Amino acid sequence: MLELIDIHKSFNNNEVLKGVSIKVNKGDVVVILGPSGSGKTTLLRCINFLERADKGEIILDGMHVNVRTASSSEISRIRKKTAFVFQSFNLFNNKTALENVTEGLIVARKVPKAEAIEIAKRALNKVGLSDREDYYPSKLSGGQQQRVAIARAIAVNPDVILFDEPTSALDPELTGEVLAVMKQLAGEGVTMLVVTHEMSFARDVANHIVFMAGGVVVEEGPPEEIFTNPHEERTKQFLSRIL
Ligand code: ATP
Repeated sequence: MLELIDIHKSFNNNEVLKGVSIKVNKGDVVVILGPSGSGKTTLLRCINFLERADKGEIILDGMHVNVRTASSSEISRIRKKTAFVFQSFNLFNNKTALENVTEGLIVARKVPKAEAIEIAKRALNKVGLSDREDYYPSKLSGGQQQRVAIARAIAVNPDVILFDEPTSALDPELTGEVLAVMKQLAGEGVTMLVVTHEMSFARDVANHIVFMAGGVVVEEGPPEEIFTNPHEERTKQFLSRIL
C-alpha cells in the first residue's frame, strides 16, 4: 500500500531524516512514536510533498516515486491518494463545516457540487457532526474542528490518511472525541499513519508501532511487543519517561 524507502531530509546542515523506511499495509494503523525533534512530522510532510525529501523512494498503491526527482504530476497523484490531518486543523474560517469538506472534492477532484454535498454530509455524519454542517469553525470547539478536518480527509476516500499529532492542540477534555473517531475509522479498515504522543491510542488501536529517534527508526513492531518488551535502550528510556 504505502512504502517509504530510505527517506533522507536535511534543513540546511541539519539532517533530520537519516534514511527512514516504513511500510504501511492496507487497513493498517501505524503509529510513529518518538521524542520531540526526532523527525516524525517532517517524515509525514515528505510523504505528500509538503516538504520535498532529498533522497528516497515512495511506493503508493503500486506507483513508484523517486522523491528527489518527482514530477508535478507524480506529486499530484500522490496527493490525490493521501489526506493529511494537521495538528492545527487548517480549516477555512470563512467556510462552514460542510463547505470545508466539499471544497477539496469540488475544486481539486472535480466532483459535481450536488454529489460533493452528499459525500460531505455522509462524512460529517460519520464523525458525529451532522448537526453542525452549517457552523463556521469559530463556532465549533477544537475537537469539533478536528472532526471536520477528519471528515474532510475521509471524504476524498484516500488510500491512506496521515495524521500529524491530531490531538496535541486540544484541551485534554476534547482529545477523547477525536481519538474515538479515529478508533472508529480504524475499526472500519481505514489505513492510517499517525504521529501521536497518545500512548493509549498507540497501545489500543495501532497494529504496528514505529519508534523514531534522531532521524532514524530505532525499533518497530506490534504494540504488545514495543510496550512490554522493547529491545533497544532508547525505546526503553523513552517509554519509561512517558508511561
Ligand atoms: P515534535 O514531536 O516536537 O513535533 P518531531 O519528531 O515531529 O517533533 P520535526 O518537527 O520533524 O520533529 O522536526 C525535526 C527537526 O527538524 C527539528 O530539529 C526541527 O527544528 C527541524 N525542522 C523541521 N522543519 C523545519 C524547517 N522547515 N526548517 C528548518 N528546520 C526544520
